[in-house]
Amino acid sequence: VEAAEYDTYVRSAAFAFLDQLSIQQPGLLRYEDLAQFQFQGERMPLMDLGRGIRKPRQLEGAISIRTVHAARPQDRPYADEQGLDGYFRYKWREHNPDQAENRALRLACERRLPLIWFIGVASGTYMPIYPVWLADEEPFEEQFVLALDDEELYRWDHAEALEPVAQRRYADRVARVRLHQPLFRERVLVSYETRCAVCHLRHRELLDAAHIVPDSEGGEPIVPNGIAMCQLHHGAFDHLLIGIRPDYRMEVRADLLAESDGPTLRHALQALHGEKITVPRQRAARPDPASLDLRYQRFLAAS
Ligand SMILES: [Zn+2]
Repeated sequence: VEAAEYDTYVRSAAFAFLDQLSIQQPGLLRYEDLAQFQFQGERMPLMDLGRGIRKPRQLEGAISIRTVHAARPQDRPYADEQGLDGYFRYKWREHNPDQAENRALRLACERRLPLIWFIGVASGTYMPIYPVWLADEEPFEEQFVLALDDEELYRWDHAEALEPVAQRRYADRVARVRLHQPLFRERVLVSYETRCAVCHLRHRELLDAAHIVPDSEGGEPIVPNGIAMCQLHHGAFDHLLIGIRPDYRMEVRADLLAESDGPTLRHALQALHGEKITVPRQRAARPDPASLDLRYQRFLAAS
């Protein structure tokens, strides 16, 4: 098989492997999971533990890049890696353009090879984003330009013909959907130990990261603006059926409290009145009181 063809097969198999993993064990990935990948009987770990750029010896171009996690929950991770044009950047390894991993990235860039971007969520755990592409290299800044989807790649190549404001808007939208929202969810779930803050339900498939100040109103995708909630409680919170005071105590809307219906209403909603949500142990990961108050005032107005 020709090298280019072999490369295509390996990458498709790697993406299929990640798809499969996300079904078998939903959630964040560890190195041990990524070390399981094999192609035609050969083991080919998808991540390098020692370096951010992974180039298997069987391939000419890099197959994955990695970004370490933001340790502080209040940080807006990777915001500083986003250029004014909305595109993310990935730094060279060390400062030498001829370093082997940098050459492997350059080759992936020139050949437009699809890559996996592993983003650290907590120590040793990662969220994969794939496929992504390297649209360009900026040697003076010692970095590559990342395209998060093929449309972004196309737009980079045709930038002269496109309106910069529209470009930025598109890049922001892609970043929100493919990076910020999934990363926000994962970071909030980690902070709440994968449990609903209201009822302690532990099923990841049924858990969301609820925004305190909504995304549409400029609420940032950072942990203190989030609360892990099951879908029922997320819905109740978003529809102002329950309010959360800045002291973390819950209130149930008066008309709902007065209603009488089956056990779900009684146990899952009415019983919350006056109870406290369970917040993360780490103080910096807890809901921001000012944002909670803003939201609580809206609950009062709707009651
Ligand atoms: Zn719940």
